[in-house]
Amino acid sequence: MVTLPPAVLEAIYRHAEEGHPEEVCGVILGPRGAPDEARRCENRQNALHAEDPAHFPRDARTAYNLGPKDLFFLDRSLRSDRPVQVIYHSHVDVGAYFSAEDVLAAAPDGEPLYPVDYLVVDARRDGAKGAKLFRWVEGGFRQIAAFSR
Ligand SMILES: [Zn+2]
Repeated sequence: MVTLPPAVLEAIYRHAEEGHPEEVCGVILGPRGAPDEARRCENRQNALHAEDPAHFPRDARTAYNLGPKDLFFLDRSLRSDRPVQVIYHSHVDVGAYFSAEDVLAAAPDGEPLYPVDYLVVDARRDGAKGAKLFRWVEGGFRQIAAFSR
């Protein structure tokens, strides 16, 4: 089973709570197989929605989007000794599941963009309740771990 340190999960829960009622996003990185650091990213969805609402009908309440700066960091980390291994984002009041939009963002052409897992946090008005981890397995995203709080 995949383990994420409790301190990393707590940092992500706090991020999700601060961002509520909007989705937050970030990455988890560290030694390969033992990620130990959560790094917050900017959710660019509001800016995209404001610039081009026809192409980006959702705002940050129901979507997340990593900007070029964070994607550059992610890309470069993959060749380092502290690679990003998880991309996380929160869901606001709807539960931690991997949505059709999440699949599209992670594998727009039917193949995953990055060799990472995806953590979805269940963010509620009264706090973050837990998270679920998803991995690309044999052509689709499957839940591989669940964390309760
Ligand atoms: Zn999502």
